[in-house]
Amino acid sequence: MKHLFFSQIFCRDAVLSYSAPSNVERQLKLIYGGTAIVGLLNLLLLACCGFVALPLFYLVHVSYFTFAAKVACLCNFVKVYCYGVAVIILQAALTAHFLGDDCAIQLYLLCMLLVAHYIFVTSYRRTVKVLFLTLSSIVIVSAYLIIDEFLDFWIKPHQLISDLTEIFFTLINAAGALTLFTFACSVFVSSFQHEFRRLNDLNTGLNEAVVHDKLTGLLNRTGLERKLSWLRQHKLIGGDKPYTVVMGDIDFFKTVNDSYGHDAGDLVLQRISVYLNGYVNEHFYLCRWGGEEFLIVILSKLESAVAVVEELRSQIEEMVIPFYNKELKVTMSFGLCGSQDEEKFTEMVRLADGELYRAKRSGRNRVSYTTLEDQSSPSGT
Ligand code: GH3
Ligand code: MG
Ligand code: MG
Repeated sequence: MKHLFFSQIFCRDAVLSYSAPSNVERQLKLIYGGTAIVGLLNLLLLACCGFVALPLFYLVHVSYFTFAAKVACLCNFVKVYCYGVAVIILQAALTAHFLGDDCAIQLYLLCMLLVAHYIFVTSYRRTVKVLFLTLSSIVIVSAYLIIDEFLDFWIKPHQLISDLTEIFFTLINAAGALTLFTFACSVFVSSFQHEFRRLNDLNTGLNEAVVHDKLTGLLNRTGLERKLSWLRQHKLIGGDKPYTVVMGDIDFFKTVNDSYGHDAGDLVLQRISVYLNGYVNEHFYLCRWGGEEFLIVILSKLESAVAVVEELRSQIEEMVIPFYNKELKVTMSFGLCGSQDEEKFTEMVRLADGELYRAKRSGRNRVSYTTLEDQSSPSGT
């Protein structure tokens, strides 16, 4: 599960780096430039106005994280995050100097550990993960300790305010920093989660599209190949387990198209697919091989498979497909090849196709069969 999760992130990066590199670069520049300019103005304000500028100070950082969270989903978020940490450390140190208030700054720094851990969870390269988490934790905790222990002489209360006001603002500052950074981290996290969910859905959709035929909803060749390799892995094909390959083809299908149009042809394909699909179970696998041809793998001996296919053939013969005020009727021919040798699947498909050809030549709407082991004496009905 974890492996799948990371591989999805990897796919996402590959897809996005292909689809939107210039856009991401532009947004990154915006983050760098924008935050730097607003940060400088912010510091200027803090220097001139002191606590009055605090709301703006918070606003800048919340905006930064909200925006960074959006952009980080589209590009290298480690890069964005490193820049974020650098900005925060610089601003935290300068704010401490101007406001004389280390409490909020320490919280401020420690809150970054949350983000660092989140990046650790979502990063897909093991070395980057470990290095990043270790380095950012060391930087954050060191900054905390330096501000707390060694820079006490440098961090002075704002000279123009009373002790009481200072305590009041210290509390407001601490609460504000904590609340806003919890909010910022939530935005960051939820933004990633949203992106992962979207990519997960996209991935599922793409996987479905790769293995299914659009018109009929049946598996396509790739889908059946995957299914067969799964059967092989689980030892359900081969060894002493017999199986039969069936190639089915609608008779005179071109005439349906020519007489009633392609819509009618499509409808016939869909109805027959729905009917055949009703047989699918753990012993019966089906795909649209191409055009009006279907390939079926039945996990049973040739004799029982012939009985099943004979039933299919006669049911399809009876089928009436309403099309506007008309009633369409078609028949199908089938060729079968039975064996126990999983390695010879391609050969069995070829032989089943040969039998289908034989069924067509002998008048259509019939079933013809052979075995891999006894190719020289095929029989048919
Ligand atoms: P036979 O009994 O020998 O199989 O004759 P046939 O007419 O069924 O076979 P042929 O190979 O001559 O024609 C198959 C036709 O199936 C030709 C092609 O246009 C049509 N076809 C293939 N795929 C589709 C599809 O998805 N929709 C529709 N409507 N027609 C399709
Ligand atoms: Mg045909
Ligand atoms: Mg055909």
